Amino acid sequence: MVHLKGISKIYEGKYVLKNIDVEVHRGELLVILGESGSGKSTLLKCINHLVHPDEGLVEAEEELFTTSPAYEWRRKFGYVFQNIGLFPHMTVLENLYIVPDMNSGDSTDKYDKAAELLKLVGLPAAQFGNRFPSELSGGQQQRVGVARALATSSPVMLMDEPFSALDPITRYQLQRDLLSWKSHYHLTIVFVTHDIREARFLADRIVIMEKGQIAQLGVWDELRQNPANEYIESLLNQEY
Ligand code: ADP
Ligand code: MG
Repeated sequence: MVHLKGISKIYEGKYVLKNIDVEVHRGELLVILGESGSGKSTLLKCINHLVHPDEGLVEAEEELFTTSPAYEWRRKFGYVFQNIGLFPHMTVLENLYIVPDMNSGDSTDKYDKAAELLKLVGLPAAQFGNRFPSELSGGQQQRVGVARALATSSPVMLMDEPFSALDPITRYQLQRDLLSWKSHYHLTIVFVTHDIREARFLADRIVIMEKGQIAQLGVWDELRQNPANEYIESLLNQEY
């Protein structure tokens, strides 16, 4: 589905990603876990070429990124950020309407599509559609962010610490809901976090990043039982 082949990125003469090979399976939720500065966001951005890798190739849906314009490639992916995201001067509906895919039919289609997405993320359009982001809680804003990513109709969702700024109760609700949205839309998700509990709860498989390299890749139980090094052992032990 998404295949990263030998991806490296150099900033200021230093490798911040070094020779990353990962295959994300169709329908999988792959978590990228690591401490701040380990290269998680850069790796996520290499997938949709928000950042161009210095070495290596990205393949998605059997297509290789070569020279096609990056903005077209980017449309293959939904993208959810941690904080930024919604345009503050636009209503919830207007924030959804900026997605090009929303504008393919006539204007009733557009409203119906937006209303369906908003209902799915628990924000009925009649009540929330005309609110501005400042009139929503943090959790509700992130729900709109997810709805907007879903509106792209892309089968692959890239999520960069989308719930990190939320209180634990709201975060847990969104984590549970994400798993149901994932199965509803048959999504493939690459999810960046530095939260070990979140990784354990959401992940089919976990990639542990350490200083720009993959320290280990596997399912939670494997990583816990056979950590590749002391760093991973102590990292995963923090959960208890
Ligand atoms: P993480 O998301 O795991 O916190 P990042 O991918 O954001 O890590 O950053 C990895 C490293 O790359 C950090 O050392 C960061 O300072 C550096 N870095 C990220 N983006 C840039 C940039 N645009 N220019 C220079 N250095 C960068
Ligand atoms: Mg980051």
